[in-house]
Amino acid sequence: MTENALKCKFNGGSIPFEYTIDKEQRFQLDPAAAPVVLEVFTLYSKGTSMQQIVNRLNERGVKSLRGNKITLNIVDYMLHNRRYIGEYGYRDVVTPGGIPAIVPEDLFERVRERIMKNKKAPARHKAEDDYVLTTKLHCGKCGAFMVGESGTSRTMTVHRYYKCVNTKKKKLCDKKPVKKDWIENLVVEQTLRAIMDDSVVDQIVDAVMDLQTRESTELPLLRKQLAETERAIHNMLDAIQQGVLTSSTKRRLDELEQTKSALEISILQEEIQRPPLTREQIAFWICRFRETDVTSREQRQRLVDSFVNSVYLYDDRLIVTFNYKDGARTVSLNDIQGSDLTVLGAPRKCQAPDEKKV
Ligand SMILES: [Zn+2]
Repeated sequence: MTENALKCKFNGGSIPFEYTIDKEQRFQLDPAAAPVVLEVFTLYSKGTSMQQIVNRLNERGVKSLRGNKITLNIVDYMLHNRRYIGEYGYRDVVTPGGIPAIVPEDLFERVRERIMKNKKAPARHKAEDDYVLTTKLHCGKCGAFMVGESGTSRTMTVHRYYKCVNTKKKKLCDKKPVKKDWIENLVVEQTLRAIMDDSVVDQIVDAVMDLQTRESTELPLLRKQLAETERAIHNMLDAIQQGVLTSSTKRRLDELEQTKSALEISILQEEIQRPPLTREQIAFWICRFRETDVTSREQRQRLVDSFVNSVYLYDDRLIVTFNYKDGARTVSLNDIQGSDLTVLGAPRKCQAPDEKKV
């Protein structure tokens, strides 16, 4: 069995429903089921909840391996399964690229981040208690996350703050909690300062233009799945010509034809969804953040999610790392009395590029 595992061969047990096992006991994509997996990952990465995905699949009549309804457990297991990025695993044998991948690695990574975010921050669902720096803010002393907490004082005033998780649990760290509004305003202010800088906007535009020249990671996989489906249809037609026609062959052929047209549509959509953006359009998108309404929690969250990579809070300084190359800022806390968002002045208006292209 270990020998089989080292060759990335199927080692018995139940066959995962997105794969079929060929004569040499190797995993091959199941052209009908593999697109469902890719769809689940894509939906989740774009913000659809696990429950909504479950409902959607059941409405369409997608069935599990054992022919049952799709459950939350199945979708949850799917979204964690490294097999879909092509990782073969049997006991302690793990071979990256050992089996055909269904999901591109960057999509898998985005899904993993979203799962972590939802796990670490159940409070995010409570609109009122939303802490915009959750999963971004780290303790400068021990590196752990600082998470939102609130407490009510004897005078019944609610105090909101961020606290290092290590001080919460085992007293591993002595970082003092900081006020929610103070730290959030500070980060929002620094982020706005960064994007008010035209040279920063130019840098981001350059990076996006460069990214656009690279090909989509999902397209090659979709094209591969399409080729495999076409081959399967071809084989099936051969079998029919040779007179091997049963009702199950017919049903299978119908399924394959359906998969084929679904894949063709996905490929088309993927191609349409990526019209190249012009420099002006990208600059306009960034520029619009200059008009962020700092009193709106939603807009603050969007600004932080779009630009801030991480924030490390030390006793005497704050390091904000942005999502673009070389984008880090150190702010000495000694120079800051309080954070005052009015110092930024009126935001500049941005020139919209050709309307019909936006
Ligand atoms: Zn700490």
